[in-house]
Amino acid sequence: MKKEIKKVLDDAKRYLVQQESLFGDEIILPKQSSDEPKQSPVEKNVGDEQFGVDPSWVESKTLNELETKIRNCVKCPLGKTRTNFVFGVGNPNSEIVFVGEAPGMDEDLQGEPFVGRAGQLLNQLLASVGFRRDEVYICNVLKCRPPGNRDPLPSEIEACSPYLVKQLEIIKPKLIVSLGRFPIQTLLKTNAPLSSLRGQIFEWHGIKLIATYHPAAALRNQQWKRPLFEDLRKAREILYQK
Ligand code: SF4
Repeated sequence: MKKEIKKVLDDAKRYLVQQESLFGDEIILPKQSSDEPKQSPVEKNVGDEQFGVDPSWVESKTLNELETKIRNCVKCPLGKTRTNFVFGVGNPNSEIVFVGEAPGMDEDLQGEPFVGRAGQLLNQLLASVGFRRDEVYICNVLKCRPPGNRDPLPSEIEACSPYLVKQLEIIKPKLIVSLGRFPIQTLLKTNAPLSSLRGQIFEWHGIKLIATYHPAAALRNQQWKRPLFEDLRKAREILYQK
């Protein structure tokens, strides 16, 4: 018995030392305890109606229902500057969901995520690891384009991310792939840099979660294309491992 307790303490110590070396004072737990009560991760927001949102969106059972209820959202200033609301695209029963940051110019014009150059690269990479775009689900943290493709503001992420959480709650994928730093930081509620999060397997409300580069970043920095490919290949392995 004494031996077992010592082993548990040694394992815990080793884990904490490893976490400290990666993240400093901030400790990110890779797995949620299975003993935790399973609660809906979505909380009802106050004042939905005044922002063009049907307050019953939190009870949506399907993606179509959710999209219909939130598509006129003006909860943050991006609702006034967008051309199109960009909800998401793909298989609503997919076992894997790719989450990007926000619509760009092409996505804003077409109302679909990842249709510009970054989208073309994502399609190529998906195909190269054996995924078809129409068999997976693709969406963003923000549903409206930040002007000039600037980074999303914390207030915009706070306003919009409950919609992403609800999408994931409806789809119930086995694996989430975060493309870029904003989705992983949003889901894990951390400010840790992508470089320290990439390559690890986390768990978000019982769903495996991995982080990789955004395809747009890989277009700007060609040396990130290979690691992006490797991460997508790893995602496929995780999804189909026995
Ligand atoms: S970005 Fe999100 S919160 Fe802001 S207006 Fe668009 S849908 Fe609403």
